[in-house]
Amino acid sequence: MLMNNNSMGRTLEEWKLKHPLLADLVSAQEVFWTNPGYKPSNNPVPIKETEIQEAETRLIRFAPYIAQAFPETQRTGGFIESPLIPIPNMQGYLGKRYNIEIPGHLWLKCDSHLPISGSIKARGGIYEVLKHAERLALAHMVCSNSMTTAVLNSSKFREFFSRYSIAVGSTGNLGLSIGVIGAKLGFRVTVHMSSDAKAWKKELLRSKGVQVIEYTSDYSKAVEEGRRQAENDPSCHFVDDENSRDLFLGYAVAAYRLKNQLAELKIAVDSNHPLFVYLPCGVGGGPGGVTYGLKQVFKQDVHCFFAEPTHSPCMLLGLATGLHDQISVQDIGLDNRTEADGLAVGRPSGFVGKAIETLLSGACTIKDEELFVLLQALSKTENLRLEPSALAGMPGPARLLKTESGLEYLKRFDLEKKMSQASHIVWGTGGSLVPKEIMDHYLNRID
Ligand SMILES: *Cc1c(COP(=O)(O)O)cnc(C)c1O
Repeated sequence: MLMNNNSMGRTLEEWKLKHPLLADLVSAQEVFWTNPGYKPSNNPVPIKETEIQEAETRLIRFAPYIAQAFPETQRTGGFIESPLIPIPNMQGYLGKRYNIEIPGHLWLKCDSHLPISGSIKARGGIYEVLKHAERLALAHMVCSNSMTTAVLNSSKFREFFSRYSIAVGSTGNLGLSIGVIGAKLGFRVTVHMSSDAKAWKKELLRSKGVQVIEYTSDYSKAVEEGRRQAENDPSCHFVDDENSRDLFLGYAVAAYRLKNQLAELKIAVDSNHPLFVYLPCGVGGGPGGVTYGLKQVFKQDVHCFFAEPTHSPCMLLGLATGLHDQISVQDIGLDNRTEADGLAVGRPSGFVGKAIETLLSGACTIKDEELFVLLQALSKTENLRLEPSALAGMPGPARLLKTESGLEYLKRFDLEKKMSQASHIVWGTGGSLVPKEIMDHYLNRID
C-alpha cells in the first residue's frame, strides 16, 4: 500500500493534501472530477487521423467476410455497428432521481447490441484480429491486398489459420470478442480470464472451442500471465489490452460512424450545440479510443467524461495524480471489487492515459448499488436491458449539472446558456448476450 513509504515518492497523506479528491476516492465515495489538464483545442496528436481512416478502410474491406461469417450482420452489410436511440423516459427518470432537470436530449449508444459479441469490445477486438489475419494471409498465402475477403470464410483459410494461435487476458467481454472472431477464422484461441469474469462468458467461449484459463486474481494478473505465456510461442499473437494500438484504432472508428448517425438524425454538434459523451471505463482502451476519435471529429464541441466504479477508479486515479500506470487502486487501499465486471480493473493503461490526458473533460465514479438501480430503471422506462458496467455513465448528465465541479466546467467553457440545445450520449457498452436468468437476477436486485 501507498500508506507508508512507496515507489511514488509520496505517502498517501501527502497525496491527499496535493489532491483533496483522493480522500473521497480512498473512502469509495462517488466523485465528479474535471480534468485540470483538459485543453479544448490544439492537442498533441500521438495517433494520426490517417491511421483511424486506415482502420475504417480495412473494416470496409472485411465487410463481405463479416457478412458471410456472421449472418446477423447482413442487414448492415457486414458492418459491426449499433443504433443511437433517444431515451426521453429515462431522461425524465434521471431528473427525478437526482433532483435536477436535464435540459437538452439524452441518447443511448447501444453498443450493448453490437452484433457478434454484444459489447463495445466488438469494435477493438474484432478489428485487431482481422488485421492480424490479413497480415498472415498476405505474408503466407497466395492472395492480394484487394482480395475479396469473403474467401477467408473457407476451409482452406481456416486450415491455414489453425497453425497460429491468439491469446488475450480479459475480465470477460474482450475474451468473448477475440474468442468468437478468432475461432470463426480458424485460429487456436486462449483466453486468460480474471476472477471477475462471469461463468456464462466462460461457458459460451468453451462452447466455441476456445481454451479458457481461469485465475483467482484480478485482471492485471490475467493479462500478465497471458502475455508471458504468449511470449514463448512465436506463432502466438497476444492481444494486449493494456498497450494495443490496433484495439485503440478499432474503437476510434466509432467516432466516424457516430458522426454519420448524428447527421442522419439531424442532431447538430457545433459551437451552439455541445455534445456530451459519458463512457464506462475499465483499462481505458474502449472509452479512450472513442474519445480520441470524437475529439478529432468534433474538436472543442464534444466533451467526453469517463465513468468508473467507486471500487475501481483506476483511470481517474492515474490521470489525477499524473502517475498513469504507475499507480493502482490497490495502492490507495481499494479492493477493485465490483459487479461491473467489464470495469474491474485496478491499474489503467499508461498508453491510453497519456494519449487522452489533454482530451478528456473529466470522470466520475458510481457505486455498484446505483448501477443496479439504473439497470432496473432503464428496463422499466425504455424496455432496454444492459449489463451493470454499461450503466456507469448514466448519472453523468445529472452530475455535470449538479456538482460544483460540473457547474464550474460549464461556466469555464461558456456552456451554461447552451445546455437546452445540448445532446448527451450515454455509451451503453454491453448487455445483449446476458442470459435471461442472469438478467432477471440483475433486475430483481433492488426492490
Ligand atoms: C471493457 C468494457 C468497458 C470498458 O472498456 P476498457 O477498454 O476496458 O476501458 C466498458 N463496458 C463494458 C461492458 C466492457 O466490457
